[in-house]
Amino acid sequence: MKYALINPNWSFEGSIYFGCREAHLPLEYGYAKALLEQAGHEVLLVDGQLEDLNPAEMRSRVAAFQPDFTVVTTAPSYLFWRCAPPELRVPQTVVRNLREVGGTLVVIGPHGSTTPQATLRKLGADVVILGECEEILPQLTNPWQQVSSLCYWEEGPRVQGGPHASDMSTLPALHWPADMIQRHHHHHHRFEAVPTGPGAEMETSRGCPYHCSFCAKENFRDRYRKRPLAVILEELDGLLAQGVEYIYFIDEIFLPNQELLQALVNRPVKFGVQTRIDRWNRPMLDLLGAAGCVSIEAGVESITATGRQLLDKHCKLSTEELSDRLIYAKQRVPFVQANLLESKVDAPEAVSQWRQHLQNFGVWANQPVPLFPYPGSPDYTKKWGLPDDQAWERAHADYLETYAQFSDIQSEQPLPLPQLERCES
Ligand code: SF4
Repeated sequence: MKYALINPNWSFEGSIYFGCREAHLPLEYGYAKALLEQAGHEVLLVDGQLEDLNPAEMRSRVAAFQPDFTVVTTAPSYLFWRCAPPELRVPQTVVRNLREVGGTLVVIGPHGSTTPQATLRKLGADVVILGECEEILPQLTNPWQQVSSLCYWEEGPRVQGGPHASDMSTLPALHWPADMIQRHHHHHHRFEAVPTGPGAEMETSRGCPYHCSFCAKENFRDRYRKRPLAVILEELDGLLAQGVEYIYFIDEIFLPNQELLQALVNRPVKFGVQTRIDRWNRPMLDLLGAAGCVSIEAGVESITATGRQLLDKHCKLSTEELSDRLIYAKQRVPFVQANLLESKVDAPEAVSQWRQHLQNFGVWANQPVPLFPYPGSPDYTKKWGLPDDQAWERAHADYLETYAQFSDIQSEQPLPLPQLERCES
């Protein structure tokens, strides 16, 4: 069988999307391609964003390939499944564009994992995969009644099983085509130097053992799972051999891993991570710096113990201890950022003072950003119950009503979600 894997050419006008807008490696498609090919299928990966393809170019590539299945994602790479654009405008346009030439249309991503029926309807697709997709895609050649983690049409939309979690101990090392790597100029969340070679993304683990109230990971990338060291190093050495200078580890939480960090010390790689600073002690921060880490993004979220408790951070350190650890990390790693969220209990003057204190030591802390109540997050469920077919509209309307000001990386004039999804782009 033939599978076309499509990453749309994303646009974010009018969106409240606050993730990075640059192109990243579509890791989910990397694994999917490897597993599909292992199973004897032919695969075409079309990355509309990395190649800046227009709809006609995308359609002609897919038409020439004549796929049995065309897969469209609703988030720009695994890195952003937890903070995807709420609206489905871009994937809707892609599905319409490829309907006649794509064979069976398959949707993957956070929307279908959380609200599968609404996603199937809105996109007019044939089947939606719930959860992590790479191990399910090869099974679509079986009768769908025998495949778990699907939503497909049977009179109405039929949901079969729950979201899938992949076995990270068996997923292979990824090997990307040279032209994809050469196009990948972006170094995600790197600020200490100007890139001199291509960047890349990879994961050393997936999921996170915590359950912060705002984090939309319950339907994918939830349970913490490590990749085997040998597989990580095979993939990383392949990227270095292709000239990659910087790797962003997209792990939800890059936890201290002595074996891995020691293996990185002698490799010519710089890398960035997102983590929780309360999980790192001084010797491990020393090793992190020695291993080549040049960027840490640490989710502190609130400057008070009450605020962190309200967000279910389960943080055992005091704010002073967190500050000390961030400042120590900055002596080992060139860029350290503490992320703050709008916790509603932190006094603005105290936040300014804390930010200034950290900045005096070179640690950047952002202005608290408003929380989007993602369907699938504990906050959403606490407020409105389990997500139904109107979940994204409800969360979006609430967000627009609640926050008059938006962070400077968001569109200045966000549009209501139904209006966005009516737009042709
Ligand atoms: S630490 Fe909290 S915010 Fe970060 S991935 Fe885990 S649950 Fe999500």
